[in-house]
Amino acid sequence: MNTRDEWTRFASTLTVPSAMWLDGQWFDDPDGPRQDLVSPRTGRTAAQVPQATPAVVDRAVAGARTAFRDGRWSRIGARERGAVLLRWADLIGEHRDELAALVTLEMGKPVVQARDVELRATEATFRWYGELADKVLDEAPRGLTDALALISREPIGVVAAITPDNFPLTLSSWKIAPALLAGNSIVVKPATQSPLSLLRLAELGTAAGLPDGVLQVVTGAGGVAGSALARHLDVDCLTFTGSPEVGKRLLVCSGESNAKPVHLELGGKSPQLIFTDAPDPAAAARTVAWAITFNAGQMCTAGSRLLVQEEIAEQFVADVLAEIERTPVGDPFDPMTRIGPIASERRRADILAHARTAVAQGATPVSGSLEAGAGDGWYLDPIVCTNVRPEHDLFRHEVFGPVLAVTRFTDADEAIRLANDSPFGLGAGLWTSNLSRAHRLSRAIDAGLVWVNCYEEGDLSVPFGGRKLSGHSVDKSIHALDKFTSTKTTWIRL
Ligand code: NAP
Repeated sequence: MNTRDEWTRFASTLTVPSAMWLDGQWFDDPDGPRQDLVSPRTGRTAAQVPQATPAVVDRAVAGARTAFRDGRWSRIGARERGAVLLRWADLIGEHRDELAALVTLEMGKPVVQARDVELRATEATFRWYGELADKVLDEAPRGLTDALALISREPIGVVAAITPDNFPLTLSSWKIAPALLAGNSIVVKPATQSPLSLLRLAELGTAAGLPDGVLQVVTGAGGVAGSALARHLDVDCLTFTGSPEVGKRLLVCSGESNAKPVHLELGGKSPQLIFTDAPDPAAAARTVAWAITFNAGQMCTAGSRLLVQEEIAEQFVADVLAEIERTPVGDPFDPMTRIGPIASERRRADILAHARTAVAQGATPVSGSLEAGAGDGWYLDPIVCTNVRPEHDLFRHEVFGPVLAVTRFTDADEAIRLANDSPFGLGAGLWTSNLSRAHRLSRAIDAGLVWVNCYEEGDLSVPFGGRKLSGHSVDKSIHALDKFTSTKTTWIRL
């Protein structure tokens, strides 16, 4: 499909899921509450989504527990589990356009990015963990003479996952694929704004051979369905991607219920440090613009603080602004669109409120508008503010939208001080040709992800996670398996 009309027509032919996915089939509670899903693209209702009550959450967890106990998934060989993940990856590839259109419909991501970035990453995730299946080994220490000790990792049981709306499939797959590979059952609660694509993904999982009950999807409000999962006495582990505010609440839910481990992937306020010797300043400016506009800035790793060395600041900021000007905002079903609408009307209002506060505190707006446009849908031009100082809220608070805060520095010491002067520690970009500076500063930056002369690059083999208020857990890579398994020591006297 190459045109907006073709994509729009295609989207209108799709069957939009309207029930939850429990025990390998659609589950609809006829008397249960439902909520309109309003499309960010048009501001009009696109679907009606069932809202799980605590009773439905109980049912989902019970189904997942039964599946775990009887071993239909947890006790088959890891290679067999891997084969299902690989078939699932194939199906995701075959249904890429359909899943991408659902993502666009529900949360407004430009469809080309949904197809070429989100869906490719989701497919790759299932494939990577499927291929890993028979390559993970347990351990036996060599130093023992009169005993054999086995250190094995076992599935933890029933995992609950609560996920956000910005990458509805990729971020969920970073939890589903490793949790399932390890032999667990999993109950997922997607964001209220973006349940449709995940429901269809779950249906494809069953088609790929996933036994019933092993993956349950409950839809509904975080405060009801999410909270019921977090407090559930029969959930063994909770993995969460979302805001620090909700993450902190989930720790309390765990403490007040069964002390289940809670793995948090939270927000960010990631700096990009641009030195005078950045190897290709034009490429750096393009990347800085991309890192705050991709997905309409709704990225935990958005490069939302631009720290630029005094001598080149004026020209560099001009180049970033020119690049942003060239990045079209528009209908996400138009293949030319690079910035779609904000996922919800409330979030757009929050973003604008952040920008207005910044200006009231003394920052200078140099791009974008502080008012919402009048048309349908929740579109917003990217906003750039210069003269942002560490005491401004915009320097410290996550906006979760296309708002870039620009601050100048004079030398490397000040750059590091500014970079680390944040409650968050997720990502950072470092642009310099000086090899020793790159090494020295990447060590000094207090963040889980540091990119040198690039930004937001990666591979499934490397972990993704942060520090401080950005959370303490990792997704992706072999390390993601740790949180979905528990260690057992078996000591055999010889
Ligand atoms: P959010 O408001 O925290 O929502 C995330 C999920 O939590 C949604 O499913 C939400 O359900 C649910 N939830 C809300 N209140 C809850 C409660 N009281 N109990 C249990 N669950 C609850 O976050 P968001 O606005 O969707 O996403 C933005 C945040 O996610 C940003 O901070 C961003 O940086 C972070 N994020 C982090 C990463 C990472 O990997 N570190 C990746 C992406 C996003 P509802 O939709 O029904 O509210």
